[in-house]
Formats: sequence, structure tokens, C-alpha cells
Amino acid sequence: MMSVLHVSDLAKSYGGVHAVRGVAFEVAAGELVALIGPNGAGKTTTFNMLNGQIRPDAGRVTLDGRDVTGFAPRQLWRMGVGRTFQIAATFASMTVAENVEVALMSQTGSFGFFRRGRSEARQGAADLLQLIGMQPQAGRSCGELAYGDVKRLELAIGLANNPRLLLMDEPCAGMAPRERNELMRLAARMAKERNTAVLFTEHDMDVVFGHATRVLVMNRGRLIASGSPSEVRANADVRSVYLGARVEAVGA
Ligand code: ATP
Repeated sequence: MMSVLHVSDLAKSYGGVHAVRGVAFEVAAGELVALIGPNGAGKTTTFNMLNGQIRPDAGRVTLDGRDVTGFAPRQLWRMGVGRTFQIAATFASMTVAENVEVALMSQTGSFGFFRRGRSEARQGAADLLQLIGMQPQAGRSCGELAYGDVKRLELAIGLANNPRLLLMDEPCAGMAPRERNELMRLAARMAKERNTAVLFTEHDMDVVFGHATRVLVMNRGRLIASGSPSEVRANADVRSVYLGARVEAVGA
């Protein structure tokens, strides 16, 4: 299976602190991969090196075989990296459909740069909303939506550039357990149907072990384990870094 995202020897230090070092992994099309680890493990730093917010000190990031190391967020977006943003990034007074249209209108094709017209965006937004089952809410303003629907909309907007790789930073933050499962089932379906590689960070172990197809575990800047949820659950190194309450969660 050809990987969409390929990361090798990624490193970033702050002063004497090795926030990330020697990190290497791959994410293939259709996979839903969780990046986990205790506080300070280096998850956010790794994520931000993939979405262009932080330039790595060393290492290489490739997307479908093309080197994108150190690319800015906008360049990455054009290359097919989508990401979910918290609701603050959507426009509360605009309708659900309008929010998706705005995202689509700034879309650029992978075979050159072109801007989509309004009518094309309108159709595209309708299609995306259909896909995530939010057609009935298309005309409602975002400010009136239930929280679970806002999160679903964030997912749809993340998919607006038809990404090869979708990055989700704590997609379920603040959601009720039932809503979390619905959102992650939707993300899994999107990954499969659209053949998108998905990488997400998440603190909720039920979400991670219930939905990820593979789990990457970081500790102190390094990747210490990678495997299926059951392999990672059984890993002694993983258990030892999750001392305390989360041991039971990991072992559940
Ligand atoms: P959390 O789960 O708490 O968000 P994390 O796994 O995302 O943690 P990072 O935020 O990537 O971890 O931090 C990794 C290490 O790098 C920590 O020791 C942190 O203090 C340090 N670090 C991260 N960003 C900076 C920065 N801008 N300046 C200095 N140190 C930083």
C-alpha cells in the first residue's frame, strides 16, 4: 500500500529541549491514524510541522512522494493537506452552506491554480453537506447549530479541498461521548470512501481505541510505538508511560 504521508527523521528543538526527535512514520490512503502520548510528548509540535505552522530543524515530509518539508500552511493546502479548524474559524452569522461555499471557493486544483466560481461552489457545498448528512441544516446560520453539528461542519470544511491527507487536532474536544462516536464514524467513512489519509491527535482513549485503524505513540519527543489498537494496548512501553488513570483506559 502506497503511503500518502511519509515522515522521516523529523526533529525540532527549543533551546535545549528536544520537543521532537527522530520521528518517522507513514500514513496510507484510507487509514485513520491516531497520534497519542502523555503531556509534553511532542504531539502538537509534530502536528504543527505537518500543517506548516512550524518548520522542522531536520527531517523530511513527503506527500504522495513529493517533498513538502517546511512548506507554509497555504502551500500545503494547495498540495492536498486539509485540516479541521475550531468553530471560531467558521463564520457564525453565515449559513452552513455559505461556510462550506467559502471554503470551496478558495479551492485550488492540483493541476494548476484556478478559483472556483460561485455556482460551482454552491453545487460543491450541497454535495459535501449531502455526504455528511447536513443537507437539512444547509440554510441555518452556524450560530444556531448544536455543538455536534458544528464539529461535523468542521469536518466537511476540512474536506473542502478534497485532501489526500486530513489533519484533525483533537476533533472531539468538548463533545459528549455519543457525539464523539458519531463524528469518528463519519471521519472513518470519509477516509474510506474518499481514500483520504487521516491523522488525528486525541486525548480521549475511547475515541482512539474505538476508531483508529492504527495508533502512533510518542513520549519525550520520540515515537515509542506504532501498531494496531490491540498491539499498542498490549505494548509494555506504552503501558509504562501511561502511569496513573490512563493505564486502565489504555488497557480497557
Ligand atoms: P500536550 O498533550 O500537553 O499538548 P504535546 O504532546 O502536544 O503535549 P508539545 O506541545 O509538542 O507536546 O511539547 C513537546 C515539548 O516541547 C514540551 O516539553 C514543551 O514544553 C516543549 N515546547 C513546545 N513548544 C515550545 C515552544 N514554543 N517553546 C519552548 N518549548 C516548547
